[in-house]
Amino acid sequence: MMMVDLPALRRELEGHPLESWLEWLPSTLEDQLDPQRNGNLPRFLAALDACPPLRAGHIDLARDTILIGAADEADEAVRAQLKHALQGLMPWRKGPFDVFGIHVDTEWRSDWKWARVAPHLAPLAGRDVLDVGCGSGYHLLRMRGAGARLAIGIDPSLLFTAQFALLRALSNTSHTHVLPFTLEGLPQRLPVFDTVFSMGVIYHRRDPLEHLAQLAECLRPGGQLVLEGLVIEGGEGDCLYPAETGSGRYAMMRNVWAVPSAATLRGWVEAAGFRGARIVDEGVTTTAEQRRTGWMQFQSLADFLDPRDPTRTVEGYPAPRRAIIVAER
Ligand code: SAH
Repeated sequence: MMMVDLPALRRELEGHPLESWLEWLPSTLEDQLDPQRNGNLPRFLAALDACPPLRAGHIDLARDTILIGAADEADEAVRAQLKHALQGLMPWRKGPFDVFGIHVDTEWRSDWKWARVAPHLAPLAGRDVLDVGCGSGYHLLRMRGAGARLAIGIDPSLLFTAQFALLRALSNTSHTHVLPFTLEGLPQRLPVFDTVFSMGVIYHRRDPLEHLAQLAECLRPGGQLVLEGLVIEGGEGDCLYPAETGSGRYAMMRNVWAVPSAATLRGWVEAAGFRGARIVDEGVTTTAEQRRTGWMQFQSLADFLDPRDPTRTVEGYPAPRRAIIVAER
């Protein structure tokens, strides 16, 4: 099984404005998928190879728990083999998925985020979408399930790229791909996407304005930006910089650079040249939405909060709160 299905990309991008990506994709992918650069890659490839050659009959990408194959489509022994392959790609963070009767209960109830985002989207039917920091591709599959014509995700994690490759192969989903790149490392950003998502990424960027500018470079004029990220309560101008303060951590994460108020974040989106930026959702992340499960056995949100005061992180910052902002280019 391939990490990235180049033959399918070749077919699907022919005549598409993204066709010029095919000029650099093969060699850039080869660099990205060099085992010398990622010691875990052989383990991921072994998990993909251990996956039985199943093609799901029952597929539903529009469900909260994405359905890829019903339990009665494979016998017990094959399902055990599949479960082993899926477990070889732990930890599973973004989901959930039902795969041939195996419930992949991920760390995140990503369906809850989708439920908050979906009502504010320009209808995805027929649109080309880019999901920056797509993780396992859960939301990407939901986008395709909502009718997107082409759904491209980028994420530097080879584990998540491998997770998606497995789900994609089992579900035989076309026009949907995850590429192992960061937004800033993308060799070519073209203004061709109708909707660009950046969810859970901007606070990991040292320069959030640059991130917004690079998102704009991927959107066609009039296209929609969907931005989701950590925020603090407060007015325009308020912003927390955890990586540069105290322990350098926020909720145990080392790479959280800027946590603005939603109003500040909205101001950044406008400053980056987007029009009509609006805060469409804001709320505290609960330990029901992000938690340890059998498929993600490391620490999770409950362990990152102060046990005596769960409105605070262990570092004493306000507990994780998130906002969604939409805007047009
Ligand atoms: N978008 C998903 C996942 C958020 S987790 C959701 O909202 O549920 C953040 C993801 O962004 C991780 O998978 C991480 O690998 C990825 N990421 C981190 N830095 C990135 C960058 N510069 N460009 C693209 N993706 C990035």
